[in-house]
Amino acid sequence: MILEIVKYGDPILTRSAERVTEFDEKLHKLVDNMFETMYAAPGVGLAAPQVGLLKRLFVMDCSSGKDTKQKLVLINPVINMEEGEQIGEEGCLSFPGIYVQVKRPQRVVVRAQDINGSEFDLDILDLEARCVSHETDHLDGDLFIEYLSPLKRDLVKRKIKKRIKQGDW
Ligand SMILES: [Zn+2]
Repeated sequence: MILEIVKYGDPILTRSAERVTEFDEKLHKLVDNMFETMYAAPGVGLAAPQVGLLKRLFVMDCSSGKDTKQKLVLINPVINMEEGEQIGEEGCLSFPGIYVQVKRPQRVVVRAQDINGSEFDLDILDLEARCVSHETDHLDGDLFIEYLSPLKRDLVKRKIKKRIKQGDW
């Protein structure tokens, strides 16, 4: 089932999400729906607050469905190490049509739980590191435009306000 993606302006996107404690059938279903929603959008990452749920989990697939090894669900993720930096263009499914340059760590080591609650570690680079950093931010209510200079952030916000007025948001 494709879920509705919450867009910027909805206060849920700036709230902190709660830990997942139940690894039940409901969670499996939610994860399935989140993957379906992400692929349909299309996007490479989707966090639970973006579908209106304040839960600490996200799905990602930097191969856009081409490589099943890159299809990942991270539940209660904790970033334990960040190294280096990369600057690149970034988008967000909650900001349709908005792309900005964002600085992220080049390497990220993250510990998370899988769909059954088992812990695992990921040591990743480049696009995957960017994605984990972006999606983990969502769980703390942090959005990618916060990395912009106040001037650039203001430009983006004004662009969005205009689109809201035009009914294009
Ligand atoms: Zn996002």
